Amino acid sequence: MARGGKKKPFAKWSMHQALHSEVSSLLVESGLEFKFHSEDTEIGCINDRDSNIMGRFTCHTSTCSSTGWSSKMIAITIREYSGQRYNARVYHQRCKSCKRLSRPLLDDSYAERVVYWLKKWSGVQVVKPAFSGHSKGPHDRNLCEGCKAGHCSQEDDDFFSERFNRFVSSESSAID
Ligand SMILES: [Zn+2]
Ligand SMILES: [Zn+2]
Repeated sequence: MARGGKKKPFAKWSMHQALHSEVSSLLVESGLEFKFHSEDTEIGCINDRDSNIMGRFTCHTSTCSSTGWSSKMIAITIREYSGQRYNARVYHQRCKSCKRLSRPLLDDSYAERVVYWLKKWSGVQVVKPAFSGHSKGPHDRNLCEGCKAGHCSQEDDDFFSERFNRFVSSESSAID
């Protein structure tokens, strides 16, 4: 596989420590402080959650005709560790044309999602982040490493079930 270089072109997922400052600044608003745990491990993990975020992929095959693609269904596993630490594993996708793996460039949804769960696990009241991940066509499971690893939640059920519950409770109290 990749020799000598720090880049791993065939990696099926990666961590995005560069986005920690974004996460931190959102956490500060709630008086929370977490450190990024750079070890991609289950050891010490006390909470974890599969979710989906948004971003853009570029194909790095020079002979490939693909200009890249954006995805509203990038699989992510968010993990909290003991001692106020966290990390998140972001799953890669394959180019439709040449099947090469690509690491995404993520948008604000990364920090929003991570912070949402860290707050929730810390017992902080959370407001659902605006997220429009359902307008696109079908998710291609063959090109998604999150699906292959069994960590692509796709349904976004965590947010849906909450919204649903809220509707149910407000309806039942508003019956005339
Ligand atoms: Zn390609
Ligand atoms: Zn998937």
